[in-house]
Amino acid sequence: PYDVLIVGGGPAGAAAAIYAARKGIRTGVVAERFGGQVLDTLAIENFVSVQATEGPKFAVALEQHVREYDVDIMNVQQAAELVPGKLIEIKLKDGGSLKGKTVILSTGARWKTINVPGEAEYRNHGVAYCPHCDGPLFKGKRVAVIGGGNSGVEAAIDLAGIVGHVTLLEFAPELRADAVLQKKLHSLPNVTVITSAQTSEITGDGKRVNGLLYKDRNTEETKTVELEGVFIQIGLVPNTEWLKGTVALSRHGEIEVDAHGRTSIPGVFAAGDVTTVPYKQIVIAVGEGAKASLSAFDYLIRSSVD
Ligand code: FAD
Repeated sequence: PYDVLIVGGGPAGAAAAIYAARKGIRTGVVAERFGGQVLDTLAIENFVSVQATEGPKFAVALEQHVREYDVDIMNVQQAAELVPGKLIEIKLKDGGSLKGKTVILSTGARWKTINVPGEAEYRNHGVAYCPHCDGPLFKGKRVAVIGGGNSGVEAAIDLAGIVGHVTLLEFAPELRADAVLQKKLHSLPNVTVITSAQTSEITGDGKRVNGLLYKDRNTEETKTVELEGVFIQIGLVPNTEWLKGTVALSRHGEIEVDAHGRTSIPGVFAAGDVTTVPYKQIVIAVGEGAKASLSAFDYLIRSSVD
């Protein structure tokens, strides 16, 4: 068995692998797609000490750093089930099975998409999902935020301080965000809120976004907004479907962890976007991965499994 078996090869899993391997213990990483969400990212400008890089480049650097150590990387493998026990078993979709004295879950998350024409075509070319990451790229420009829940309204408030103008579109007749956020939103001079709006298309000139179309659900009329960017904020879904009924999950499906990265199952730790730790960012995932790995090591030196 592995001393530390890591499920997920994004920034959190990579950091966990490096920290475990540096303890000289048997370390494995099983990942569907080594690199994780950064493979889908264009510019990264907020990873402290790296002024600017690109997602695929960052993913290569992650893998190279892990490969400096004696770590088994099992790529293109999907974990399908976790079986607790003295040795923790991870069953793979293809029928295989791996065992670890400890397991670190770092399967990340994915942004919900609105599935309208233009969304996929202009991803990273005007369509964005992360205001902390991409907000500054739209300095002085016009953007829309789709989604009037807490994350959408927070994004609109955040972006209003950077961009020229924000149009917030919500499908329902009312915003769903906390009252205090709505009050703040309505106090901002460069924000327009449109409710009962169903976004139907994101348009562009073949290279970049130049507008969006929405249906006014009260009148059934289709309307246009001219803009340079669209932030989609209708939710981030943790990749925990395969864990239901094992580790404790929050009502949003995130793995509940304590300050040491421990889950509800002894020997099972978690890190990164898949957990309840707030603010889904690379720098945070990396820190949490390192922490979970040190916690797993601490658990190993205190446990009787050999
Ligand atoms: P992930 O990166 O999601 O990695 C999860 C890993 O688990 C992957 O290897 C995946 O294949 C694997 N996995 C999932 N399910 C299974 C399974 N069942 N079995 C096996 N493996 C599985 N953050 C920033 O800090 N700066 C930015 O500029 C930035 N820009 C972004 C732009 C975009 C378009 C996106 C989508 C995200 C961006 N982020 C940015 C967020 C950042 O990418 C995430 O916070 C970070 O990647 C989280 O790392 P993670 O390791 O927790 O999860």
